[in-house]
Amino acid sequence: MSNDRLGSAIPRPPRYLLSDADLGEEEALAVANVVRSKWLSVGQQTADFESEFADFVECDHAIATSSATASLHLAMLALGIGPGDEVLVPSYTFVASVNAIAYVGATPVFVDIGGPSDLNLDLAELAAKVSPRTRAVIVVHLAGYLADMNGIMDLASRHEFAVVEDAAHAVGARYQTPGGYQGRSAGTIGTLGCFSFFANKNLVTGEGGMTTSDSETLARAVRLGRSHGMTKTSWDKATGRATDYDIDEIGYNYRPTELTSALGRIQLRKLPAAQDRRRALTEHYRRRLSVLPDVVIPFAEHTAGSAYHILPLVLPNREMRGPFRSALELRGVQTSVHYPPSHLFTHYERTQPHTVLPKTEDVASREVTVPLHALLEIADIDQISDLIISAYEETS
Ligand SMILES: *Cc1c(COP(=O)(O)O)cnc(C)c1O
Repeated sequence: MSNDRLGSAIPRPPRYLLSDADLGEEEALAVANVVRSKWLSVGQQTADFESEFADFVECDHAIATSSATASLHLAMLALGIGPGDEVLVPSYTFVASVNAIAYVGATPVFVDIGGPSDLNLDLAELAAKVSPRTRAVIVVHLAGYLADMNGIMDLASRHEFAVVEDAAHAVGARYQTPGGYQGRSAGTIGTLGCFSFFANKNLVTGEGGMTTSDSETLARAVRLGRSHGMTKTSWDKATGRATDYDIDEIGYNYRPTELTSALGRIQLRKLPAAQDRRRALTEHYRRRLSVLPDVVIPFAEHTAGSAYHILPLVLPNREMRGPFRSALELRGVQTSVHYPPSHLFTHYERTQPHTVLPKTEDVASREVTVPLHALLEIADIDQISDLIISAYEETS
């Protein structure tokens, strides 16, 4: 086989990536400076990142962690949730939202979504699954669009359960629905908020997370749980603030590093402009793809204040998803699926058998996510939209 033929058999890298990180010289310098300082675990960079993040989202306490998964686990622990307790959660999410409930031995109770145009928890479905054992709900602001927080907070206060926001998609999003929470940042409305800085999120540090709360007691529990349950940290000791420590409750090692915190501080400064860009790109996609009336672009009714994390499309049927994705791959457009429903994974089929969520199962089988990130230009969206339209015409 000639090199030519071999070459054509190897798929070329996509022209349009699903997501891409805006990392440059500023980040490189910040990390280099941490290396030169030789203080690599929790220290001044982390303390500054936490206070800058708390200012940005406007909350009292922010505790940096090693991931959103760790943040969610710490939230469950801080709330004292354990065996025998139920926690309401969407199945239509990344499975980490659900696993955190299982980590503490509690039972995830899966709740259905609104439908193709609203991929967040449905309030009536949520209310129907509240029981005397309900201790909390984990709300996911899917794709960066806020869930019905007025309704959820009201339900939670009537039934006295906690609200944990999985804001992994929603850093910088603000709730715009009129009412008491209008203007509040995603992750600061409920009892605790959890953010992700994983490599493909809106604010990236590679691995990293943040837990936020206005409760001093919960914030203290999260801070202790992040580092073995130690009442003092190495940094306290190195800076002469402490000489010994106690363990009241056992904790974990969920600490961030100074390298990731230094990255996070720069990324946080870039976030508002990146979010403006994502909004403009999303609005352009919505205009351009409106010529495909059978394709739903979710959240059309409440786009304001979103973090515009990803752009999900819901196709008219499940059969065309494979061919449509292949047609886009051939055209150099990377796609993904957000998400395979958690309740259909083998583990959760075994532990939560007979869970039926018709809307989640339907939408998840015909969803496709297309490229959206802050390094794209409006002209790129024009190109990608043309390719989406031609792929759709070929496969529908
Ligand atoms: C990415 C993600 C997480 C997990 O974040 P990590 O920082 O990778 O642990 C949790 N929930 C949702 C909705 C996510 O998208």
